[in-house]
Amino acid sequence: MSDQQKSDQRKNVAVLGSTGSIGRSAAEVFTACSDRLRPVALTAHRRVPELAEQARRLQPRYVVISDEEAAAGVARQMFPADTRLLVGEAGLAQVVALPEVDVVLAAIVGRAGLESTWAAVEAGKTIALANKETLVMAGPLVTKLAERSGSEILPVDSEHSAVFQALRSGRRHEVRRIILTASGGPFLNYTLAELADVTVDDALAHPTWDMGPKITVDSATMMNKALEIVEARWLFDLSPEQIDVVIHPQSIVHSLVEFVDGSVVAQMSPPDMKLPIQHALTWPDRIEGAAPRLDLTDPVRLDLHPPDLDRFEALRLGHEAARAGGTAGAVLNAANEAAVAGFLAGDLPFAEITTACRSVLEHHDFDPAPSLADLSAIDRWAREEVSRWVCT
Ligand code: NAD
Ligand code: MG
Repeated sequence: MSDQQKSDQRKNVAVLGSTGSIGRSAAEVFTACSDRLRPVALTAHRRVPELAEQARRLQPRYVVISDEEAAAGVARQMFPADTRLLVGEAGLAQVVALPEVDVVLAAIVGRAGLESTWAAVEAGKTIALANKETLVMAGPLVTKLAERSGSEILPVDSEHSAVFQALRSGRRHEVRRIILTASGGPFLNYTLAELADVTVDDALAHPTWDMGPKITVDSATMMNKALEIVEARWLFDLSPEQIDVVIHPQSIVHSLVEFVDGSVVAQMSPPDMKLPIQHALTWPDRIEGAAPRLDLTDPVRLDLHPPDLDRFEALRLGHEAARAGGTAGAVLNAANEAAVAGFLAGDLPFAEITTACRSVLEHHDFDPAPSLADLSAIDRWAREEVSRWVCT
């Protein structure tokens, strides 16, 4: 590192999945906080033109195209002359371990984010974690690795960021429970019969959040909240009984913590991921930045009510997987990813996403203490199982 870099107090950030919804919001955060944050590495899987455009704008030292096929034949001149171009999983592993990287924003979607996030934890980096699937699949292994390496895992998921912030109002043993809020997605008031007929376009039209397609479908089934229950269990080391979910259609209260004296502390802000991203990247500082402000002097309506578990069965699966631990999270995650891919391809009805996940979760060969290799094997098995449900 040069003296000039050392003397400047900016944090160096590697963004895994910079062309996605979280990655693009992060780019806005970098622009708004350029005196505090410096993007040193950006990665994309296939969207090379978008990556090149970001590279020209943000001038990172490295870019990675993780899909080797997409990287073949890419013209080097698309990228700034001072930016090094790396390729494949090896490229991801290389950038997360760079000595000059302080924080890794893990924003690849799904199981594909596990290896690179794991490598960043192993390298002892601070992790700004958007890729919840890493903790859903391998929570106990990842948190143990972080303890050994000294890596700090900071939540980017808005609910977990809210809990993280609200937890500062008391001591750890004073927490009674946390309450995750869920918008309820586009089908909040649909009957079971109506849910049977929804289309891909219906599911992708989220009322409050603008996100990538996988998590948008997860919000519509409420599997997103199920995954977040498991994520919260490992991230905050809570028992599953300490994690509740309420429906909050306005997406302004991002989650709440109830303490033993009866105080309930909430974090509120407009539904915009720039705030939780910035919070994790600049932690422990709060700075003015890219996020819009909430003006509570204007009339605001905040509704909170319990979820209907019969229409949104996925929530039960989240609690079951959080209680079971072991291989349950990896199976639920893999079954859901395969089912969502099937739905998006038009090969699986919406209502069968959750049914397929329940079936695969119930029939799997449970292991209470799997290794990372066991989790990869059960992940493959669960995807195969779901393929029987998907008619192409
Ligand atoms: P997205 O689909 O918009 O973007 C995914 C990114 O990952 C892209 O940059 C893509 O190039 C990269 N990618 C895809 N497949 C890959 C692979 N096989 N290997 C390497 N890179 C790959 O997704 P998103 O909505 O930005 O979500 C990213 C993560 O953040 C997810 O885990 C999601 O659950 C979580 N998250 C997102 C939001 C949101 O508002 N979008 C909110 C909370 C949490
Ligand atoms: Mg969330």
